[in-house]
Amino acid sequence: MKHDVVVIGGGPAGCETARLIAEKGYRVLVAEEHRQIGEPLQCSGLVSLRTLQATAMPDDLIINQIHGAFVHSPGGETLFFREQKVYALVIDRAEFDRTLSERAQRAGVEILTGVRAGIGEFFTDGVSVKLKFRGGESTVRTCLVIGADGANSRVARRISAPKAEDMIRMCAAEVELQCREKDMVHIFLGGDIAPGWFGWVIPVDEKHARVGIGVSGRDKHPRTFFNKMVKAHPGIFQGMKIIRGTSGVVPVGSLARIYGRRTLLVGDAACQTKPISGGGLYLGLLGAELCAKVAAKALAKGNLSPHFLREYQRLWEKEMADEIQTALRHRNIFLTMSDRDMDKLIRFLSRPLWQGIISRYGDIDYPSRLADKLSFAGPWAEKFIMAGFKKILYYCSATRA
Ligand SMILES: Cc1cc2nc3c(=O)[nH]c(=O)nc-3n(C[C@H](O)[C@H](O)[C@H](O)COP(=O)(O)OP(=O)(O)OC[C@H]3O[C@@H](n4cnc5c(N)ncnc54)[C@H](O)[C@@H]3O)c2cc1C
Repeated sequence: MKHDVVVIGGGPAGCETARLIAEKGYRVLVAEEHRQIGEPLQCSGLVSLRTLQATAMPDDLIINQIHGAFVHSPGGETLFFREQKVYALVIDRAEFDRTLSERAQRAGVEILTGVRAGIGEFFTDGVSVKLKFRGGESTVRTCLVIGADGANSRVARRISAPKAEDMIRMCAAEVELQCREKDMVHIFLGGDIAPGWFGWVIPVDEKHARVGIGVSGRDKHPRTFFNKMVKAHPGIFQGMKIIRGTSGVVPVGSLARIYGRRTLLVGDAACQTKPISGGGLYLGLLGAELCAKVAAKALAKGNLSPHFLREYQRLWEKEMADEIQTALRHRNIFLTMSDRDMDKLIRFLSRPLWQGIISRYGDIDYPSRLADKLSFAGPWAEKFIMAGFKKILYYCSATRA
């Protein structure tokens, strides 16, 4: 075998996993279906400083710094907070991906672009991967496949990994837009604008922004809701011109299995995204670290059985299960809220005490830390108590039956 590992997908999770395994002395191939790493862009590029520090990224990837937000309720209430501290950074996402892929290449990873890959057959001593490229096909044999092929992962389907609880379909774009406060993002809530999710404006500079909405549910067309958001807020979107679309899908949930026979999943393919915001870069890179660690250990021991690879699931859950489960609990409460509930909540949170709590505990990588504090906010607490009651009633009727 020419390669010890084949990584399917050359996004950030795939390239970072490949680099970390190659640095341990293994031969790694990355197959990416698009001709250029980082394109087409399907992201708004909002990350924490922590994400950039973890990957030691150069500062010149940072385009803008975010100090606060306006959160708009469906009925026109607005929650506002702005602090000295930097909540998030707007980065050049395509360049971010390219930097990760160049680093992987420097570590010895071979990257093939314009190549669609898929698992072929499993053997006792390896697995075959089919590579399809313009004008041809070939097969390579390897010890281990890493599925880093994004939200609609074929590798995940091939190993019958559980499906994500929800797939948020996003209509998003880079736009020309006057951003009066270029350090403030806008978040839009409401069933008419972004059912089951939210809409956003992330300023890039005074004249450009990244705009989008997400919707939960297959029957809803994201583009329709994008237009509704723009129409509902003429003061914010006046004169907006779309430069290019960046739409895509984000999986939400917690996968009970992110490994299989000679296979590991990482990044969006493993549903390593934040259930409240959909951000996947921080978690995907964290996943890459753990995935590479277990892959290298399995290769060193020559043990690629699902039983051994299960270690990855254990490490991932130890690191992130609490955060993701808490975030999912809050998301489920959010899904029960009517537009009127949201108005009430935003009005309530606009009080100075709650604004202070939001400023203090707001963290885009660990939103559950703030969400847990908000569980004590009147309208949110009511929902939690109601959800608790419903659970108790359900258990009582189930045990009686
Ligand atoms: C509109 C939108 C906005 C977002 N904004 C943010 C944000 O602001 N901050 C944030 O942290 N996250 C954001 N995300 C999420 C983030 O983009 C993803 O979580 C992240 O890209 C996941 O990285 P990945 O490497 O797992 O997958 P991807 O980046 O999706 O990479 C997977 C790669 O696999 C390739 N591939 C797929 N199938 C095959 C195949 N069969 N053969 C070969 N190659 C294949 C694809 O071409 C792709 O390059 C956003 C997502 C969307 C849709």
